[in-house]
Amino acid sequence: MAEVTPSGSWNRIEINLENLQANYRNLSNLAGPDARVMPVVKSDAYGHGLVEVAAALADIGASVFGVAETEEGVRLRKAGIEGEIIVLLGAMAENFSEIIRYALAPVVYDLAMIKELSARAEKEGKKVPVHLKIDTGMGRLGIMPDEVDEYLELFSELAGVELAGVLSHFPMADSSDQSATDTQTAVFSQLVKKIHERFAGSVSHIANSAAAIRNPGSRLNMIRPGIALYGCCPSAGSDFCSGITLQPVMSFKTRVIQVKEVPAGYGVSYGHQFTTTRPTRLAVLPVGYDDGYLRRLSGRAEVLIGGKRVPVVGRICMNACMADITDLDRVQAGDEVVLMGRQGLEEISADEIAGWLETISYEVLCTFGGSNHRFYV
Ligand SMILES: *Cc1c(COP(=O)(O)O)cnc(C)c1O
Repeated sequence: MAEVTPSGSWNRIEINLENLQANYRNLSNLAGPDARVMPVVKSDAYGHGLVEVAAALADIGASVFGVAETEEGVRLRKAGIEGEIIVLLGAMAENFSEIIRYALAPVVYDLAMIKELSARAEKEGKKVPVHLKIDTGMGRLGIMPDEVDEYLELFSELAGVELAGVLSHFPMADSSDQSATDTQTAVFSQLVKKIHERFAGSVSHIANSAAAIRNPGSRLNMIRPGIALYGCCPSAGSDFCSGITLQPVMSFKTRVIQVKEVPAGYGVSYGHQFTTTRPTRLAVLPVGYDDGYLRRLSGRAEVLIGGKRVPVVGRICMNACMADITDLDRVQAGDEVVLMGRQGLEEISADEIAGWLETISYEVLCTFGGSNHRFYV
């Protein structure tokens, strides 16, 4: 299991690829035989490692991947990932040569850009698959529904691009009330029907994790799960994910570097925001906001030591923080500390940390994963 940390940091992110694969299989089963699964591996696979995650999923049959930018698609190709790679933010002229060379499929939403891409591809004797993005209520990327006809005309005329898919995105699929999501699905499905009359081979996809889990009618030909693959429920709603088993993929661990006793009335860390009320034993941990253990966790976070929860006390520093271990026996320098993940019977989830940080699990995973060395177990 846990490898010995080689030279380098005491802080380690552990990525459990078996749990990742199990989540993928559960999502595939949920999607059923008619809907493919596009693992969303943008942003370094939500901090889990772009290439490692894509490779582990390709090993068990994933054949279409979603990235944010062209550069991520290029990295996947250079690492030997085959299948379709969809660039969700699309591409600009400066990306076209890589799009063509690495056989990436950009999302498109601009007439001039599509024409230019087609001309470039035609010159090289290629046809680039593109996915047309329609804004059905997200208020983000995409053309408006009343522009669809104009784009369909264009796709019939151009020789260098092929309409491989049409997509949209939900802003409220994580809500317990699915009515906005249902309405958007209906609008999208109407458009898809019209598009299929002219481009029968194109796939349609709109469901993120939340919709894929909670809204069967939104699954269409393909689902695009991100957060659920990484083992988090997209909604904090208590039974939102009761229909599927998801296991956390990322853990964050550090070690105790010093155990010390201080008297009652002793100020701890910058600003003395915390003062002991009893003779106190402190564990000094070599982790701080530079490692993604953000300063806002000061006075809020708990960590696991010896299978027990203990509070982080005082301000979190750049590379250090302190846990109050007065109530624990036998803690020594070198002992493992779990900041996120399981130890013994206790577990601290990304959602719990997100609660302390007043954010969402997505941001916790990206921040922790992006700030530390990763180990694959
Ligand atoms: C990030 C993203 C997803 C995945 O969303 P989750 O909530 O993580 O499942 C799906 N589609 C698009 C367009 C995205 O940008």
